[in-house]
Amino acid sequence: MSLERYWEKRDFRKTPEPRGKMAKPGERLSYFVQRHDARRLHYDFRLELDGTLKSWVIPKGPSLDPKDKRLAVHVEDHPLSYGPFEGEIPEGEYGAGSVLLWDRGYWTCEGDPAAGYRKGHLKFRLDGEKLSGGWALVRMGKAADHNENWLMIKENDAYSTSGPQANITELRPESVADHAGDTPRSKSGAKAAKRPQSVKRSPK
Ligand code: MN
Repeated sequence: MSLERYWEKRDFRKTPEPRGKMAKPGERLSYFVQRHDARRLHYDFRLELDGTLKSWVIPKGPSLDPKDKRLAVHVEDHPLSYGPFEGEIPEGEYGAGSVLLWDRGYWTCEGDPAAGYRKGHLKFRLDGEKLSGGWALVRMGKAADHNENWLMIKENDAYSTSGPQANITELRPESVADHAGDTPRSKSGAKAAKRPQSVKRSPK
């Protein structure tokens, strides 16, 4: 459990990404998803655990269809402060391209999260802006030093669907970052005021 691999890959004089540090565990465990338009577009899925963000690269992004088993390549831990990061990583730097905060919220693990993570089998609930309900992250094969292949799978529940409606990355491409004009989110994690793009917003 360390951020050395994260630090080694980056030049913090050049990239706007945070250097970060190990954090104290929060009362609730956060999760973040970033849309990263790098050499290849992908989604970075990050779960807070033991003071860092456990991270997976999902080339296609999450799907709300339980039949879609999405490849999730396990990568280096990121600092907790990376979670809300959005910005442009300059040309020539690691991960050069634009990063958009695509989703954020909290995750609740079924059973002990650290044990599930070591075992390569996490079952959890997401309570985010775009993703909700039950999900699983399952490692294919044995534990490896790096670039393990996992699968991210939506569980069958009230939040799962199929067909075009399952394509959540296409349906909701917008950022969930607290941009200027939005009500800042409180420390307790209470949701900020409804965002302009919210479909449930009632007419004035
Ligand atoms: Mn990335």
